Amino acid sequence: MPRTQIIATLGPASNNYTVLRKMFTAGLDVARLNFSHGSYDKHLEAINLVRKLNSKYRRHIRIMQDLAGFRIRIGRFKGANTRLLKNRTVVWLTNDAEACGPRTIPFDYQGDLNRIRPGTLIYIDDGNLVLRVKSNLANSIKAVVVEGGILKERKGINIPDVDLEFEGITTKDKKDIEFGIKHGVDYIALSFVRDANDVLQAASLIKPGLPGCQIVAKIESRQAIDNIDGIIDAADGIMIARGDMGVAVPIQEVPIIQKRIIKKSNAAGKFVITATQMLEHMTEHIKPTRAEVTDVANAIIDGTDFVMLSAETAVGRFPYQSVLMMNEIIKFTEKSMPEL
Ligand code: PGA
Repeated sequence: MPRTQIIATLGPASNNYTVLRKMFTAGLDVARLNFSHGSYDKHLEAINLVRKLNSKYRRHIRIMQDLAGFRIRIGRFKGANTRLLKNRTVVWLTNDAEACGPRTIPFDYQGDLNRIRPGTLIYIDDGNLVLRVKSNLANSIKAVVVEGGILKERKGINIPDVDLEFEGITTKDKKDIEFGIKHGVDYIALSFVRDANDVLQAASLIKPGLPGCQIVAKIESRQAIDNIDGIIDAADGIMIARGDMGVAVPIQEVPIIQKRIIKKSNAAGKFVITATQMLEHMTEHIKPTRAEVTDVANAIIDGTDFVMLSAETAVGRFPYQSVLMMNEIIKFTEKSMPEL
């Protein structure tokens, strides 16, 4: 059985020689660059750093470019952040970027707002804030706050119950793909794919310029879960993106969906990555929780090919220790598996 491999996301906490070198020795296999954040200059700096360390240590750490994909976001505010109070605040979400006020919140969805019917739940900032639609007007949606909190600019929005209208690949993704091809990344991960067609469309842009690049479809919406067989067929590998998935479907469904996707990917001979919050506690603490260690071990036992670190290594306090911890869990679990 090949060893389960470690993907770690680079970010301000790790995009420097000293930390990355320690991550290399701790057992890193793939460095992930998140194109939802960061400039081309920063990403290029990271790529050059990985290559420098590869030649110094005669390793072959690969590079994964993770594209932002289509995501609706809150627009820019003219004033301060807004506090939304549960059950009391009524807001107007508007697609007019210029309209902005204490209760008028711009967002960048350009599709038909009538599809977002009264009763629909709108999740903001990974579900930390929740709105329920009251009524639709021409350029805006009237909604009441179900879960309140501080609303900040540019936060991501999920509307899982609506089939949103958007082109398969955004202009930003197309530009980012050109960057990825130019710099010869090993994997390109596609966010928010809906079906096999989205994967094939991306492949037609990527493969002619970079035939060896592996295309990873991130499963993080109800649509993708429903179309999983076609997506597995079309992609080189699958990522179980539990962050957005946990907002798109009731959170208690995530473990069973994860197990099903691992099983199907294994059966189809496609690699599968289990991602997000695997050692989340280590973002702030030197040790993970028991539940996290058990989660990583169970994913390995179930047959995941990769385990992935996100915030832990991108912005966390203990980036290389997180990689080391992953490596320890992998070694012990794999050694023990024949006894199970
Ligand atoms: P992200 O994807 O890190 O790009 O959000 C992973 C996830 O949603 O789990």
